[in-house]
Parts: sequence; structure tokens; C-alpha cells
Amino acid sequence: MGKYYQPEIETASREEILRIQNEKIVKQVKHVYENVPYYRDLMDKKGVKPEDIKSVDDIKKLPFLSKADLREAYPYGLLATDLKNCVRIQSTSGTTGKRVVAFYTQNDIDIWEECTARAIVAVGGTEDDVCQVCYGYGLFTGGAGLHGGSHRVGCLTLPMSSGNTERQIQFMMDLGSTILCCTPSYAAYIGETLAEMGYKPEDNKLKAGIFGAEPWTEEMRRNIEESLGIKAYDIYGLTEISGPGVSFECEEQRGMHINEDHFYAEIIDPDTGEALPEGSKGELVFTALDKEAFPLLRYRTRDICVLTREKCSCGRTHVRMCKPMGRSDDMMIIRGVNVFPSQIETVLLNQGYTPNYQIIIDRKNNSDTFDINVELKPEFFSDIVSENLAKEKKLESAMRTMLGIGPKIHLVPPKSITRSEGKAVRVIDKRKLHD
Ligand code: ADP
Ligand code: ZN
Repeated sequence: MGKYYQPEIETASREEILRIQNEKIVKQVKHVYENVPYYRDLMDKKGVKPEDIKSVDDIKKLPFLSKADLREAYPYGLLATDLKNCVRIQSTSGTTGKRVVAFYTQNDIDIWEECTARAIVAVGGTEDDVCQVCYGYGLFTGGAGLHGGSHRVGCLTLPMSSGNTERQIQFMMDLGSTILCCTPSYAAYIGETLAEMGYKPEDNKLKAGIFGAEPWTEEMRRNIEESLGIKAYDIYGLTEISGPGVSFECEEQRGMHINEDHFYAEIIDPDTGEALPEGSKGELVFTALDKEAFPLLRYRTRDICVLTREKCSCGRTHVRMCKPMGRSDDMMIIRGVNVFPSQIETVLLNQGYTPNYQIIIDRKNNSDTFDINVELKPEFFSDIVSENLAKEKKLESAMRTMLGIGPKIHLVPPKSITRSEGKAVRVIDKRKLHD
């Protein structure tokens, strides 16, 4: 296996990519209009006909779809083909509410697996690799997505699913896993457990990790790379558009290449819906160009992101997206100030703490309260109250500098915050209970 899984398309010229996209969008809009009454109604209401869409430049004429539409149309309302042509159902994790389901034809699965295979080859994966997949299997797309890609590349695939961390480590050591696929929070937990079991980072055979499905910071990347002795790569995706592999990082580790031959990306202003020029920060919107069963057009991800067409040294020509800065709905508004969990993670890891923390927001006497429980490393743990108080004050002041608002920090004993085996739950917003 070379440097790319599908070199021709991954390094195609801009003109060639545009040609493919233009050809696909015309067919796709027709397919959706004819087969999805729900979307046809939205187009009719907007006064757009399939003939109006002649190239991807015309995509901005189309109506948006949002998670609310998916919930309203649940389960079959956005299905574009007969159920008998479908071979698979997957579902979102339900991180922000009721789960939505997505359908796949065999062709949809093939495309999806090609995308994850591109991601695996991009981190150096070949048929000589042992690829341990510890994303959850089942309805969640993580396990199935990377599993399929690993098979296509020809890696020896270890379908572990998530959980049972000691067993994960036993297999990793006994069978010499070289590529690890899981959420970044689970990777951090595996790294922590390895150290507790007495292993050093160089004791394992891992060379790379493909971590995604949740936001993670550069500081977290360094933490994982050190504890596992690997290179840690990001992968992005969402069930609604297919699953992991909508975009993936290359050896540059600077943004994820979007598989543009299958997914058309836009950045919009989340308030006005207006399409923004390249390089602007805004909400990421995807159009699936060739999905058959569940082809969403202009789906609003709520992920806040920036796209760049800056040339990449890896030779891939597909547009890159930055690490999503958290979803627009991850953003907390605390006493009127916008706060992202990723900012908190950055401060904690920079100050030498672990990625084990929990943010608790509540409302008392009409004012928001903002508390962060932060776990101490065993070597920093102290019984001396004044020492802990001083550490809390130092962290509070670093947070205030970063966030523009001061949380109350509570240092808690090692191991007291539950570890995540899938997507970590970092925020408990109790204000929602009172509303
Ligand atoms: P849910 O929306 O219920 O979590 P999914 O399991 O399909 O459903 O997750 C998709 C979402 O996960 C994305 O919209 C995005 O918010 C988040 N996500 C996926 N990959 C990444 C990543 N690499 N970095 C940050 N966020 C990610
Ligand atoms: Zn690249």
C-alpha cells in the first residue's frame, strides 16, 4: 500500500474535484426531490426546482436541514430509497437529545468504508498493521466505520469495541496492536491504565492512533502521544452524513481533509444562515453528494469550524477543516460569557493536570454558578489543606485569564471522576432542570 488509499482522487486537481462534485450534485438533488417528499416540500416552499441546481455553486439556493428535521421525520421521513435496498441502520449517540437513525445501501457502506480506509492509510496503515478498534460497536458508527476501513486496507482487525480496559491492554500487548482507534478520552484512559499496570510508553507496539467522535485539544493530543508513545490523529464524522471518515488528518496533523468527492462542505453564519467566504469561522454544513439511502442536503452540523484550501505537504488536495471548536450547543453561556469546554481543557493540561475534569453549572439566586472539579495526579495529592487551596487559587486565576470569567475550582482525589470509554460527558448543566 502506498501513501494514499485512492491516490487518483485524493490528489486530484481542484478542477477535477469540482467536475465530479458538479456532476454528482445535479443527480443527487433530482434523486432527493423525487424520492423524499419531506425535502421536496422544503424545496417547493423555497421555490427551488431541481433544474435550478446546475453546479455546487447553486447549493446555496437549497433549504437547510437540521437535527430538528431529522427528529421530525424520524424514522423513515428522509429515506430516499425502498427499505429493501437498504442493508444497514446506524444511529447517532444521542449526545444532544433524542437519537436519529440513518440508513445505508451497500453502495453507501462501500463509500463510507473507503473513506475510513483513506484515514487509516493516511496514518501509515498497511496490511502489516494490527488495528485495534475500540470505538463502540452496535448502533454507534465509530466501531463499524473503522472496522470496515481496516478490512479494506487489509490490516489485521481486532474488533474490541469499547470498555474492559484491562482486556484491551492485554490484547494490545499480546497481539502487538500497531494502530489504535477510539475516542480521545478513551485513549487517555488507556494511557493512564497502561502506566498504572507498570508499562512504559515504549513497551507497546502502537505507532498511531485514530481518535475522534468528540472535541479534543492540541494539549490532549500531546498528553495521549506521550502516554502511549504514538502519533495521534484526528478523524471527524457524523452519523447523519455517514459516520467517521467524513474527514481525517494526514501526517501534517494540521486539519482534516474532507472527502470532497463525496461530501460538499460549506461554512455559514449560524445566526443568518448566510454562506461565508473561505477562512471564516462558522457552522459547518454538509451535502452528501452520492449517498443513496439517506442523502442529506445542506445539513447543519452545529459544529463550529474553519475551512482552508492552503496547500498541504502530504499531497492531498481536498479541503481541510480545523478541529471543530466544539458544537454550537457545547458552548456554555455563563453569566453572559461564552465558554467552551475545550478552553478549560487547555488550561488544565497546560498547568500539568490530567484531562479528568467535570464542569458543573447551576443557577442560584438568579445568578449562574460555575464550578469545575479537577482531579489531582496521585503525585500531587496532598492532605495539607493550605497547599490544595493555593493550587485551587492558581488554577482559578489561570481560568479567569483564559475565559474572562472565574470558576470555583475544587481539587478532587485521584480516580474520583468517572472515566469515559466512549464520548466523555464533561458538562453538567443543572440550570436546564430548573427551566
Ligand atoms: P451525536 O450528535 O449524537 O453525538 P454522532 O455520534 O453521529 O452523534 O456524533 C457526531 C458529532 O460528534 C459531530 O457532529 C461532532 O459534534 C462530534 N465529533 C465527531 N468527530 C469529532 C472530532 N474529530 N472532533 C470534534 N468533534 C467531533
Ligand atoms: Zn494533508
